[in-house]
Amino acid sequence: MFFHVILTTECNSQCTYCYGEALEDADGEIPEIDVDYSLPSKINYDLEILEIFCGQDPNCILTFYGGEPLLCTDQIEQIMDRTAAKLFIMQTNGLLLDRLKARYLNRFHTILVSIDGERSLTDFYRGDGTFKKVINNLKLAKKNGFQGELIARMTVMESTDIYDQVRWLLRNDEFSFSSVHWQLNAGFWKADYARRGFEKWSTEDYNIGVRKLAEFWVDKMENEGVVLRLYPFLGIAESLLSGEKKTLLRCGGGWINYAIQTDGQIIPCPTMWGMKAHYVGHVTTANPLKLIKEFVKEPCIDCGELKFCGGRCLYANVMKRWSAEAYDQVCNTVRNLIDVVVNQMPRIDNLMNTGRISFRDFEYVRFNGCEIIP
Ligand code: SF4
Ligand code: SF4
Repeated sequence: MFFHVILTTECNSQCTYCYGEALEDADGEIPEIDVDYSLPSKINYDLEILEIFCGQDPNCILTFYGGEPLLCTDQIEQIMDRTAAKLFIMQTNGLLLDRLKARYLNRFHTILVSIDGERSLTDFYRGDGTFKKVINNLKLAKKNGFQGELIARMTVMESTDIYDQVRWLLRNDEFSFSSVHWQLNAGFWKADYARRGFEKWSTEDYNIGVRKLAEFWVDKMENEGVVLRLYPFLGIAESLLSGEKKTLLRCGGGWINYAIQTDGQIIPCPTMWGMKAHYVGHVTTANPLKLIKEFVKEPCIDCGELKFCGGRCLYANVMKRWSAEAYDQVCNTVRNLIDVVVNQMPRIDNLMNTGRISFRDFEYVRFNGCEIIP
């Protein structure tokens, strides 16, 4: 099982799609949802409880999460010292990565770092100076011996040219990533769809960029024998290559990848913090291997793409913050993504048959924080 350990609800950034949207969406609360807004700002249960909880699952994998988890480096170190997790993962904005001592940093299997592309775009979404600080910290992490997987985790919306920005992250003079994942800012807030140009951008720009990017991805396989770790493509291609007939939610939310709030309540996914109706137990008493499961409902259960898509996002499916018509634009991006990967499979199969690439090139730790379906 995978567990996001939410160390704090606080963050040291004020990104447009999170802090900015929260301000703009002030009237977007949904009265029928009972949300506990009084959660402690920092983890407030005894760490021994987490140790016992995790110890009941020999495959327990912990992902440090926030807010910004590196605001709690002491707790990260204490948990790593005492908890026998199989792997440690972290999702961070990278601004405080230099706070973590090398002997802890180097035990992480994977670190997902929020970065949206080149300097101007990252600073536009995340604030001036963000890019430089994050890149300097990543260089320092490498210098200090970090050899795990570093994943550039992009948040993508209308100012992003997906084709240009992903390729930039893969190859540039500042810090080139070998792994990239991206997630659409879509369906999380209530009032943003009306003031954004999501439909036009997604159909006229994003979907076309994703198609070009998939061609570039397979060109690399052909020309260099390299399978770039572009997670949305990698995850779908791996499913197709392994003959998987049906996938559940690919982020694992609600069935294999849960989150533990700062007060110890366990929820299906970190975004569902405080949503009391979805609490599945408390870390003091719950058995990590016997948690209640929650699955997506309509419209996903009637959708022909469900077996590949998995439902995209439990939070969006439960909350339905965008109208059905608006969310269908998101589903169009899912259909496009699946279609472009399926279309590239004859080329991939051919390269596998000639031994240019192998199935191992597509393997990854599932539920590592990459949702696969952006
Ligand atoms: S494409 Fe949309 S409706 Fe279909 S399963 Fe995915 S998220 Fe659900
Ligand atoms: S994709 Fe949705 S359900 Fe999954 S972790 Fe992200 S917010 Fe949660």
